[in-house]
Formats: sequence, structure tokens, C-alpha cells
Amino acid sequence: MLKVDLHCHSNVSDGVLTPAAVAQHARKAGVDAWALTDHDEVGGIAAARIAAHDLGMRFVAGVEISITWSGETVHIVGLNIDENNAALLRGLAATREGRDARGREIGEQLAKAGIPGAYEGALEFVDNPALMSRTHFARFLVQQGYCANTPEVFRKYLSEGKPGYVPHRWASLEDAVGWIHGAGGTAVIAHPGRYRFTQLQQGVLFDEFKELGGAAIEVVTGSHTPDQYPVYAQLANAYGFLASRGTDFHAPGEARVDFAALPPLPASVTPVWHDWF
Ligand code: AMP
Ligand code: MN
Ligand code: MN
Ligand code: MN
Repeated sequence: MLKVDLHCHSNVSDGVLTPAAVAQHARKAGVDAWALTDHDEVGGIAAARIAAHDLGMRFVAGVEISITWSGETVHIVGLNIDENNAALLRGLAATREGRDARGREIGEQLAKAGIPGAYEGALEFVDNPALMSRTHFARFLVQQGYCANTPEVFRKYLSEGKPGYVPHRWASLEDAVGWIHGAGGTAVIAHPGRYRFTQLQQGVLFDEFKELGGAAIEVVTGSHTPDQYPVYAQLANAYGFLASRGTDFHAPGEARVDFAALPPLPASVTPVWHDWF
């Protein structure tokens, strides 16, 4: 059976390895078909494709788009996109635009909470100035000893209601799915189990996504707990969605689930890649 990982980050967004190094990491973990899906950015795709092919992996060009839906941040993965599509590039550029100003505000909030210099400190961890992420703040706070690991930083400082949380309006669901389809891609709801929706809200999200032509949801992802795999497998089938699988890898040692330990998709679902490889 092919080992497929369709959700990974490089230092072009909030991962720490270059696209080529992520490809090597994936290959070492036994991956046969791989997608790079940086946040709101496709700048790593060309290098990732070359590295994947050099390593004998099939490659899927991807992106993970930040959207705001019903007041919450949701992530939509686009797979098999043409990364040179002009409308997609414009949409992603617009989505990235507010990140630096948000970062400065996060820095100000953290300073008020007794953590000075966080904007400048987080910038030290940023490789792509257009893509400052909360993850970079998390790494800075861990480095400075405020927290033991990045999940703790999110829990204490960076999630809604916490001192360093700055609300932000991302793209709309309709725009993100439209950009992905316009670029010839397939739209996938990333880690649906991670959002703080009621079952009713989640159902509305799935219905709206389906209506827009969205094709799949992630079922097995490093961002789900193992007990969520069967839940989302069942929901994929109930809604007629294909299923995707990916580690959501960001950095060695930072993952919730080890790269090589993520299980395959349950046999009950149809993989999003069923007619690709
Ligand atoms: P941003 O796009 O700047 O809001 O940052 C979102 C990123 O933060 C996600 O893609 C994850 O990489 C990371 N993240 C969000 N929540 C957590 C968490 N609880 N623990 C660790 N990383 C998280
Ligand atoms: Mn991330
Ligand atoms: Mn995500
Ligand atoms: Mn991700």
C-alpha cells in the first residue's frame, strides 16, 4: 500500500525545515506520495517538487488556506493546485497581508502580560517575512523559558481568551474554495476535529463546503486524536466526502504524533488520492 502524507509545513510558513529537507524527512519515514501544504503560501512548491522527484516520491502541490467561518479560524487545504495560477496567488497574497500587523499587536499584548520583546524575538524564528505565525511566537516563548513546549504556549497565551490572542479576519470559505478550484485543485477541510464548533455548526460547515464543491475532509491527521479517526471516517462517508491523511508536520520533535507512527486511513473511506496514484 502507498504511504501518503498530504499535509506538511516547511520554513516557507511555520515549519522549521526547508521544503527539500521536509521531503527528505518524509521519505525517511517511508512516504511514497507527499504534499507540501504551507499556510497561505506556495513559495516552497517548486523546490519541494524537485526534491520529491529526486527522492522517488510522487508529489502533490498543496496549500493550507486560513479562513474565518462563523467567527472561527478554519483551515482549508488545496491539493493538486497549479501553484502559478494568478487568482490563487493574488488571493494568498491578500490573506497573508495582515499577518505582520497582527504579529506586532501580539507583541504588544504579550508585553502587557509581562513578556517584552516578543515581536522582535519571534521574528528571529521567521524565515519568510510575509508569513509571521503564532507558531513563531510559541517558539520564542519556549526558547525564553516562559513555557516548556509550544502546545503550552498556545494554551496559556495564544488561543482565544488568552493574553496574547489577537482576533484576525482571514479569507472567506467561498473565496478559498474558489481559488483552489480556479487553480484546478481539490478542496479539503483540514483537521475538522480541532475546531470548537457544536455538532450543528460543524454540520452547517460541511453542508456549505459541499455546496461549494468541496471534495474531502482530513480523517487521519496529526492534528486529530486517535479516537477522532473513526468519528471523521464515518462523517466523511455520511456527507459523501473523500478522506485525506497527513501528519501536519512542522518540526522534528514538535509533532503531536510521530511522523512514522500515523496510521493509514480506515478501510471504510475513499482516499482523496483514489484516482491520482
Ligand atoms: P496562525 O496561522 O498564525 O494563527 O497560526 C496557526 C498555527 O499555530 C497552526 O497552523 C499550528 O501550527 C499552530 N497551532 C495552533 N494551535 C496550536 C496548539 N494548540 N499547539 C501547537 N500549535 C498550535
Ligand atoms: Mn501551522
Ligand atoms: Mn491547520
Ligand atoms: Mn497545517
